[in-house]
Amino acid sequence: MSLLELRDVHAGYGAVRAATGIDLTIDEGEFVVLLGPNGAGKSTTLRVISGLLSPTAGSVHFRGEDVTRLPGWKRVGLGLGHVPEGRQVFSEHTVEENLQLGFFPHRRDEIRADLEQMYDLFPRLADRSKQLAGTLSGGEAQMLAVARALMSRPSLLMLDEPSLGLAPLKVAELFEYLSRLHQERNLAILLVEQQARTALQLAERGYVLERGRVVVSGPGAELRDDPRVQAAYLGG
Ligand code: ATP
Repeated sequence: MSLLELRDVHAGYGAVRAATGIDLTIDEGEFVVLLGPNGAGKSTTLRVISGLLSPTAGSVHFRGEDVTRLPGWKRVGLGLGHVPEGRQVFSEHTVEENLQLGFFPHRRDEIRADLEQMYDLFPRLADRSKQLAGTLSGGEAQMLAVARALMSRPSLLMLDEPSLGLAPLKVAELFEYLSRLHQERNLAILLVEQQARTALQLAERGYVLERGRVVVSGPGAELRDDPRVQAAYLGG
């Protein structure tokens, strides 16, 4: 049984049809990348999975359970974490308050332990725990957005273009964290990323979306060698 399964998902915004029949699966602990040109429907797909957008047709199953009509907050409780595009942190709150807001009430006495785990993973956030999130650098804010999503203990973490606006060194650092999380915690990851070359090195499998549909999918290495992927995304 797959961890996540999308069957023939259609979704849109009024007259705009952004997803027109998406089939996608992710296994437990798998690292999957979602590629595609601007407007292909990548963010829309993540929104449908996390429950921010209801599909007009098709279904979403998580751990075998049909979650298509389940509210987003309940999906967080089931283990679906989403870091939307643009690292939306609460600027007027401190780093630690942002992390606390990501905590999904498992047991209140466990919150301290979860916070400490995040500080171990991202020591920079520990140094800045009392700082207002709005004053963090771009890279720090992105780490905070990832750490906040991890506070709900997801088994699938979805990230929407986390590298956007980050300096190359910061991108490398963020991807290193993602790899570690994936390997050490067996965390499944669905990554939307424009930096296709790097993403395909990290991911075990990938999908390419165009105009709301999957046009190519397969293991990362296979996609790297695919002439269509090379021409469109790898400058080959
Ligand atoms: P990008 O790489 O540019 O972020 P994407 O692959 O993530 O693109 P989506 O953001 O999913 O693409 O958008 C798919 C289509 O839906 C686009 O045509 C977009 O203009 C449209 N769209 C997205 N959000 C909205 C919205 N809130 N209202 C109306 N149309 C929208």
